[in-house]
Amino acid sequence: MPASICPTDELLERFSIGVVPQEVADAVTDHLAVCSACEERLAAFDDRVDPLLTGLRTAHEQSGVEAEISSEVRQVIQSAVRNAVDSSSLMFDPARRLSRELAAGPVRIDRFELKEELGSGSFGYVFRARDTQLDRDVALKVQRAGHFAGSEERDRFLREARSIAQLRHPGIVALHETGRTAQDVCYLVTEFIDGDTLDRWMQGRRIVPGRAAELIAEVAEALEYAHSQGVIHRDLKPSNILIDREGHSHITDFGLAKRETADSTLTLDGEVMGTPAYMSPEQARGESHAAHAPSDVYSLCVILYELLTGSRPFQGNRRMLLLQVLEDEPRRPRQLNERIPRDLETICLKGMSKSAARRYQSAEQLAEDLRRYLNREAILARNQGIPERIWRWCVRNPIGASLLAAVTIGSAIGFVYLSRLSTWFVEQTALESVRMQTAAFDHFNTLYSEGVSRLEDQQLDTVGTTEEYTAGEKPILFPASFTIEAGRRMGADESGMQVYLYSDYPFPWRADGGPQDEFQRRALHKLDERPQEPMIEFTEMQGRPVLRYATARLMQESCVHCHNAHPQSLKKDWQVGDVRGVLEIIRPLNADMDRTTDGLRGAFILMATVSAILALCGFGLLLRTRPRARSG
Ligand code: ADP
Ligand code: MG
Repeated sequence: MPASICPTDELLERFSIGVVPQEVADAVTDHLAVCSACEERLAAFDDRVDPLLTGLRTAHEQSGVEAEISSEVRQVIQSAVRNAVDSSSLMFDPARRLSRELAAGPVRIDRFELKEELGSGSFGYVFRARDTQLDRDVALKVQRAGHFAGSEERDRFLREARSIAQLRHPGIVALHETGRTAQDVCYLVTEFIDGDTLDRWMQGRRIVPGRAAELIAEVAEALEYAHSQGVIHRDLKPSNILIDREGHSHITDFGLAKRETADSTLTLDGEVMGTPAYMSPEQARGESHAAHAPSDVYSLCVILYELLTGSRPFQGNRRMLLLQVLEDEPRRPRQLNERIPRDLETICLKGMSKSAARRYQSAEQLAEDLRRYLNREAILARNQGIPERIWRWCVRNPIGASLLAAVTIGSAIGFVYLSRLSTWFVEQTALESVRMQTAAFDHFNTLYSEGVSRLEDQQLDTVGTTEEYTAGEKPILFPASFTIEAGRRMGADESGMQVYLYSDYPFPWRADGGPQDEFQRRALHKLDERPQEPMIEFTEMQGRPVLRYATARLMQESCVHCHNAHPQSLKKDWQVGDVRGVLEIIRPLNADMDRTTDGLRGAFILMATVSAILALCGFGLLLRTRPRARSG
């Protein structure tokens, strides 16, 4: 029934004697809160005088009649009067009557002075009251007794009292005492929580996921305590969780609670107890007697869902809700709001699994996973890959991660820089040594040429090829052949060095005397134009790094004479100092590079290890001095 529609007289009358179903009673209560006209109509029912009761009372009070009747008849009348008085006091809602009386002026129950109405639920009305003896505010819950008081309602009252009597936890509303008014109405006196119900607290408030997780973790911890004492709440919902001024939560309303040691037979099979929107599937199946820790975990995760998304997972009337709880999977929270963290969604949906076995098996596990989420650790509900774990560790430990990243990046930059530097050193060293070798060749060649000139002056026989010389036929090599032979011998060791001499018109007997590749062609051309500048190139040959160093070969006195006179010479006017070819030395660098890189790598590993150890020690020290986060 919508809160805005006034109930009919018949419904109001049935409501006043407590014979309407629970959800209808709730709707009427909501309506009465906003409609003073109906409140007055209802008061008329409450004030109605029962003629039978009046008659019996009158008969009972007439002592003359009493004297004349037998003791048996007197007993029957007395019992009828007592029952009628009981029925009368329970016929109408005494809690609501108190509420109306309070609106008119001060009301007192025993030593408690009622101050204001805090709220009402299915069981009763809760008032803020002053305990005049202990001088403190308390919450006084008066049983909304109706037609059935004395059986079900009284059981429930006792159940609540017994359940909370044994619980002492900051997250659970503490019971101070229980009592009974002169009209035989039961009441509970509990700790007064100055704040709001979670229900009202969440209205119109933007709750960030972290706050929702923190709140539910706190409730879960209190719930774990209740479970450890053998108490299952079975009716967790936002209106049964109070949030105090500091933002801490307190579980209340243990009216449907089950004590594992005593109450296991209190509810019958098939009876659906609790509030459908927050009810676990096993409770919705009517197996409330079998409700256990995962049932409360389910309800708590429905509350988490509501806090995260702003709406309940299932909606509709009681019958539809029960069906959905049993059959339907809730929409994923991230479908409603994609900014909800994936981990919180995972935790929430795990807690709401249809099968109790797939939920968190205890409120403690739920609290732990929520705390893990809050501490940016990997949650247990999801198996994460190594990269995600590393990432989470980094997010969780930004200082340590920054230090390690700095060491790693610094070392990598250092390594690259040192590698480049070492390559540069190797190249420069190779260049210097090749320069010296080339100069040595030049000196030897000049010396040799001078010697050959002098020998020619003395008409001594000379030989033209290395083969002739080594065959011992001719005693002396041409200067060019001398250079080639010297180079060949120098490169014969394991250094792999090669020496080439080439020109642009090879004599027929030296078929490979011309340029063999692009570098050599360029060298000939360039050195022809600028003979003083060597041509240098660091490159790769046959997969290994090499230095190619080419210098111009200039005509010597002995060469000019021979070349100008030779019948196959292309030119007859050679001068001393003309460029007549290129001397190239190819020097492999791989051995030098490998040696330097090995040395560097060793130094780098040593440096990185020492840095990492220092960084970890620093981080460890930091952790030890950092204050621990509040866990409860
Ligand atoms: P019911 O069993 O009838 O549902 P509850 O115990 O849930 O009764 O209390 C009904 C309402 O009374 C709560 O929703 C809340 O607004 C208020 N209330 C209950 N207990 C306290 C308390 N200890 N301090 C402050 N308000 C309370
Ligand atoms: Mg309640």
